[in-house]
Amino acid sequence: MTQHHQHEVVIVGAGGAGLMAALYASKGADTAVISKLYPTRSHTGAAQGGIGAALGNLEDDHVDWHTFDTVKGSDYLGDQDAIAFMCEQAPQVVYELEHMGLPFSRTKEGRIAQRRFGGHTNNDTHQPVTRACYAADRTGHMILQTLYQQCIKNKVHFYDEFHVLDLLVNDGVANGVVAVALATGELHVFHAKSVVFATGGHGRVWEVTSNAYAYTGDGVAIALRKGIPAQDLEFFQFHPTGIRKMGILITEGVRGEGGVLINNEGERFMDRYAPTVKDLASRDVVSRSMYLEMRDGKGINGKRYLYLDMRPETVNKYAELDGRKTPDGKPYRVTAEQLLSKVPDIIDFARTYLHVDPMAEPMAVQPTAHYAMGGIPTNARGEVVIDAKNTVMPGFYAAGEVACVSVHGANRLGTNSLLDLVVFGKEAGLRATEYAQGADYKDLEADPTAYTREQVDRLLSNPREEKAALIAEEMKSEMFDNVGVYRTETGMQAAEKKIEELRARYLKVGVDDHGKLFNTDLLNAWELGCLLDVAQATAASAVARKESRGAHAREDFPTRDDETWMKHTLAWMREGAIQLDYKAVTKTKYEPMERVY
Ligand SMILES: Cc1cc2nc3c(=O)[nH]c(=O)nc-3n(C[C@H](O)[C@H](O)[C@H](O)COP(=O)(O)OP(=O)(O)OC[C@H]3O[C@@H](n4cnc5c(N)ncnc54)[C@H](O)[C@@H]3O)c2cc1C
Repeated sequence: MTQHHQHEVVIVGAGGAGLMAALYASKGADTAVISKLYPTRSHTGAAQGGIGAALGNLEDDHVDWHTFDTVKGSDYLGDQDAIAFMCEQAPQVVYELEHMGLPFSRTKEGRIAQRRFGGHTNNDTHQPVTRACYAADRTGHMILQTLYQQCIKNKVHFYDEFHVLDLLVNDGVANGVVAVALATGELHVFHAKSVVFATGGHGRVWEVTSNAYAYTGDGVAIALRKGIPAQDLEFFQFHPTGIRKMGILITEGVRGEGGVLINNEGERFMDRYAPTVKDLASRDVVSRSMYLEMRDGKGINGKRYLYLDMRPETVNKYAELDGRKTPDGKPYRVTAEQLLSKVPDIIDFARTYLHVDPMAEPMAVQPTAHYAMGGIPTNARGEVVIDAKNTVMPGFYAAGEVACVSVHGANRLGTNSLLDLVVFGKEAGLRATEYAQGADYKDLEADPTAYTREQVDRLLSNPREEKAALIAEEMKSEMFDNVGVYRTETGMQAAEKKIEELRARYLKVGVDDHGKLFNTDLLNAWELGCLLDVAQATAASAVARKESRGAHAREDFPTRDDETWMKHTLAWMREGAIQLDYKAVTKTKYEPMERVY
């Protein structure tokens, strides 16, 4: 039996972006949040290092510096108006979180504590600046808990463990979604005046990733299937420091506190690649430098990993060599106790997964697939835009990692995602409510669950000729090897072909579990379909872009080409094939310059 619900604003996703949207939407409309995970299990809860805002609590800092760092970090692909808006809003939203009760770490004076992060600089001295506001190394966890409490207080309706499989659209207007209730297997139709997608990222496309199992690109894939393009998918960030082989993240905050990367010769190599900011260069630069070291045989024991060293004696040695000072001008020195209080979870992770004590030994790390700069195209109001002219799709909004505003362009700076969630989650929530207040419920189609049933029935009735897990494995290793940190024409073309072949094989995937209750076998197989669609659009977008910019580094086109390529990619899925178009980047006052570190 299909069940029907009606809410003015329906938000899919209960991470930072979805909850912030819900909080603001619920101030003016009947609001529901649908989430395939229990809300506090969303990936936002895994965010460690911090949220960026030019509060200047420890040293001089300015919104303009934050804006320019973000434009530069984006390798000039970010839309400068949206970036300026995000950085301007940053102090206000951080204080807003504080006033909601978020337990930030504190300075001696009781202000919100801040630390260094990659790519965030003092624009006069070009040295790293303390801009990341943090709650130990559990910043995302605290944001998620705080926002969830506020949403409960504001009487948002939660549909937990409901997996959305389709967006409903009537006459070009979004008017609801269809979901499977995990506990019963029943289909539920949610009729809405406006719909917000806040479904997070898709790092599970790659073999080694810091991302949660749930990061399967559902939002982008559902949109692609509805004729909505995906923007800039070729830009996927590899974070330099994932735990070797497992990909679990070691926050950049460790390097912010003074940790350094070391090669097999015991050399701190980042000062060769980025003489000014060294280990705190932006992530694309550090990941590529690590690859080059490993390619030169300087991986530890000749293998494909390096060391991240945060032993107090190492931190103090390099702080002295770099002449690092505390904000009050004293030489920067740390003790094991201080490090323990600033990144306690990381120290636990290293003990659990690497069996090392980071106060006594270095940690084995490698670049790990981390963050989707691309996603569903939106403007700075959170409205989804569906073509190169930025035409708005009525009733449809997106925010958070699933969206591409674009504030991160070709490379996101650390701490700017949590900021993006709260700034644009809030915008999307406000605008979705504004729209709902002026709109009637648009009629649903006669059979709104038809497409969902077709997808589910195929998976349930297929003989098990192909296994989802095997196809997933092949996709992940192909994408990791050929559409990873470094790319070539032949590699990417091979990946495109392989993904096409896997998509054909996917049509024959069957499942073992044919039951109704908690059928995660079925839903995981459905998620693989999303990953494959996103992988195909990613490979096609990447092979077409004949330049290197931010996270998209081509060996055959090693330089940035602003004349031809300072534009956003739009990828549509039409009859199973990917079609591309491009749209202009919004430039305000920052002319593209070479990035110097
Ligand atoms: C390990 C790690 C550390 C990070 N550290 C930082 C940091 O320190 N600073 C920073 O700025 N950024 C950090 N990031 C990035 C940042 O945390 C994420 O980009 C951000 O939290 C994403 O938030 P979101 O609200 O978009 O998605 P999420 O928090 O992942 O939420 C997605 C929601 O969508 C729901 N959902 C998805 N698909 C469906 C579906 N089909 N049906 C129903 N519900 C669905 C899920 O249940 C979930 O509730 C980190 C990321 C990782 C992985």
